Amino acid sequence: MRVLVTGGAGFIGSAVVRHLVNDKRFDVLSIDKLTYAGTLTSMVSVNDNPLYRFENADVCDKTAITQAMSDFRPDRIMHLAAESHVDRSITGAKDFVETNVLGTFNMLECARAYWQSLDSRAKETFRFLHISTDEVYGSLGKEGLFTESTPYDPSSPYSATKAASDHLAKAWERTYGLPVVISNCSNNYGPFHFPEKLIPLMIINAMEGKSLPVYGSGSNIRDWLFVEDHAKALDLIAERGRVGETYNVGGRNEQRNIDVVNRICTLMDEFRPEHGPHSRLIKCVEDRPGHDARYAIDATKLEQELCWKAVENFDTGIEKTVKWYLENEWWWSPLRQRYKGERLGLLPSGA
Ligand code: NAD
Repeated sequence: MRVLVTGGAGFIGSAVVRHLVNDKRFDVLSIDKLTYAGTLTSMVSVNDNPLYRFENADVCDKTAITQAMSDFRPDRIMHLAAESHVDRSITGAKDFVETNVLGTFNMLECARAYWQSLDSRAKETFRFLHISTDEVYGSLGKEGLFTESTPYDPSSPYSATKAASDHLAKAWERTYGLPVVISNCSNNYGPFHFPEKLIPLMIINAMEGKSLPVYGSGSNIRDWLFVEDHAKALDLIAERGRVGETYNVGGRNEQRNIDVVNRICTLMDEFRPEHGPHSRLIKCVEDRPGHDARYAIDATKLEQELCWKAVENFDTGIEKTVKWYLENEWWWSPLRQRYKGERLGLLPSGA
């Protein structure tokens, strides 16, 4: 099995690549532009593995993507490359439109041409898995869950571009018959998460004795999923998901942002008692514009149809994550330098 993964040097993409190479013994081609958010240091565990190869390319580049597909001959494409940070999308939406919308359009067009060149058996088994977010559904009130039939209602430039890319992916299945499957997942956390995102930012700031900025009163609710559970879900959806269908992926694990930050502080007090109590560093800051109140996923379809279940619960997952950041400064320290001094990235993201 040959799998082409875009965004393979990012947070979730690298977890997918490590899962496919180490656990599934698949041949993997990772394609990534290596933006500020991508780093090959997330791939140290597979770097010398002959099943893994990397190509530095932009998903918007038709020539490079066409060539990569025709050289590698993938059985599956898992498309994760995206601009992913909500705060950045608010001050600079152009990159989001280019990569998330035009990049997805280019991936679909290149995949369509490649798929049409396959023999009938390979055509039938080929899959294009488009990876997306629950943020496309907008915000929930106190009750209810996002299902696969929840109408799209994105709030941020990030979620609007992801919604647009989902619509393109659906249209390429309905119009051209490209075997597309779509997944929409809740917030991920875990090792190798870029240090500007909420959980790593809080851990690292706490380690450095810096303030822990929380939007508004921290009452926004997110459903959190450990990244390795997401990687396994994506593998399963690509393998057994029905063409033309959407699968919601979530951890059934809703948390208020402030509770996540307090949990991190408690763990930091345990691991670094000499610097505690870390909760004194929490600082509520002006809320993000268009900040969705609550996201929560109903993953019943994935659980019942494909027998997927998250292995990690939030208590064990967050403890593993805090320990990982404490032990892996070599990974995050150089990345933190990349956005030092920028106004953005110092505030926590809902994504
Ligand atoms: P990330 O920002 O950590 O990684 C994105 C990767 O894409 C980076 O390695 C970057 O270099 C690469 N990239 C960006 N633009 C590119 C381009 N034009 N061409 C090629 N590569 C490019 O993001 P992530 O958190 O790993 O998210 C991966 C995917 O999963 C995204 O599509 C995102 O929308 C989706 N998603 C993320 C979450 C989450 O909680 N992080 C939840 C649900 C869905």
